Parts: sequence; structure tokens; C-alpha cells
Amino acid sequence: MNFTETYQSTLAALGLAPYATDEIAAKFETLYTKLVEFNSHTNLTAITDEAGVILRHFADSLTAAPYIGEKSLKILDVGCGGGFPTLPLAIAHPDCRFTALDSTAKKLTFVAEMADTLSLPVTTLPARAEEVAQMPAHRERYDLVVSRAVARLPMLCELCLPFVKVGGRFVALKGADGELELTEAEHAIAKLGGRLISQKAFTLGDAGGRVILEIEKVRPTPTAYPRAFAKIKKTPL
Ligand code: SAM
Repeated sequence: MNFTETYQSTLAALGLAPYATDEIAAKFETLYTKLVEFNSHTNLTAITDEAGVILRHFADSLTAAPYIGEKSLKILDVGCGGGFPTLPLAIAHPDCRFTALDSTAKKLTFVAEMADTLSLPVTTLPARAEEVAQMPAHRERYDLVVSRAVARLPMLCELCLPFVKVGGRFVALKGADGELELTEAEHAIAKLGGRLISQKAFTLGDAGGRVILEIEKVRPTPTAYPRAFAKIKKTPL
């Protein structure tokens, strides 16, 4: 199978066919080629085979796309690394505005290059989440915050929920442990002004179990949060 066929069949099997048009597939093929090229000198991912990247990076990221809905949202990806889920989501929803935040600037070089090459509405922000979340320009300014593979849920909520507007949402892409993490994070979610509104467990083909947690911001986050990273890590909420 060529790239487009593998991409389209992978997405169809996951119920993501709306994001599998020929036009979108062509963008993902460019993203794949550039990812492998960049990865040869700067480590972004251990997965480089075509089918693996399509399933574990592209399709996995796109499982968050249906949570965006029809509106043009202001979206933040906390700890985007080499651009996941930001880049796939921006290809799927070019009407939204994305900010890709990571503390490792060299990974953001790739994200910025791809935003330019594919004309995606993505701005990069090289910074630590817990510092930026205290700045008025970013605190409680986003309609939707997404994050994948950054920290366990109690820590992740402290890093992400302060960015969400009241009435906005945080969508966490978690692995098979997601439901267990949710029980650990119940206190943190409430303390930070959140409320779980949906949880979805499914299998991402050969990549195994995944859980998507959708948390609504129902009250402002107390100003004491997020704390310094050492504190978040030492005594998670
Ligand atoms: N989200 C990407 C993905 O799924 O491929 C990258 C995941 S990588 C395992 C975790 C990323 O989170 C790293 O790039 C790291 O620099 C970033 N990160 C961890 N803690 C952070 C923080 N407090 N502020 C900003 N970025 C952070």
C-alpha cells in the first residue's frame, strides 16, 4: 500500500474517515517525510516507519479532532514535543488557532517549520507551562487545551487547567492507564476548577488501549496554581 492508502485505511478503521480526504492525506504525507528527515539529526520520535507514524502519531492525535467541533477555537497544546497532537489537529481544523507550547525549543523548530510549509495556523511558544500559566496573556485564555504524553493526570491537570477559560475544556489523551489516573486526579480536577464531562476508552489498533478524558472548566483556578514544577512533582494535588 502507498502512504495515502495506509493513511486512509488506518483512519477509516478508527472511525476517523472525515479526516481522511485525499487533500488531508497529502498534507500528512508531507508531514511524514519532513518528520523522518528532521528526526535524522534531531530526535523527535523513536517511531519512524510509515505505518507506525500514521497510527501512533497521526491517528492517535486525530482522536482528539472530534472534540473540537464546528467552532473556530483558540487551542493550546501543552508539551507538544515534535507537534503532537497540534500538527494533525491543525491540518484537520485549519479554522482554529493553535499555540504549541514546549520547554524544548529545538523541537518547536520543527513545529514552526511544518506550520510554515503546510500553512497551518500554529504559533510556537518555547516556555515552561507552569510559568506561562501565571501570565495574564495566557491564563484562562484558551477555549480548549490538549495534551498527550506529558505527565500523569494529577500533575497534568495542574499544568493545563489554569490555561482554560471558564466554560472551556481540557482534553487529555491518555494511554490504557487513563481511567486509573482519573481516580488519582479527582481531587486535583475539583481543586483546579474542573469537572469531568466525558471519558472514552478505545483501542488504537495495534498500539493498544487509549482513554480520552474531557474536563470542563466550571470555576476559575485559584491563583496559587500552578505551583513551581518541583512542588507539583513532589506533592501532586
Ligand atoms: N506531546 C508530544 C507527543 O505526544 O509526541 C510530546 C510528548 S514528550 C514525551 C513530553 C514533552 O513535554 C517534552 O517535549 C517536554 O519537553 C514537554 N514538557 C514536559 N514538562 C513540561 C513543562 N512543564 N512545560 C512545557 N513542556 C513540558
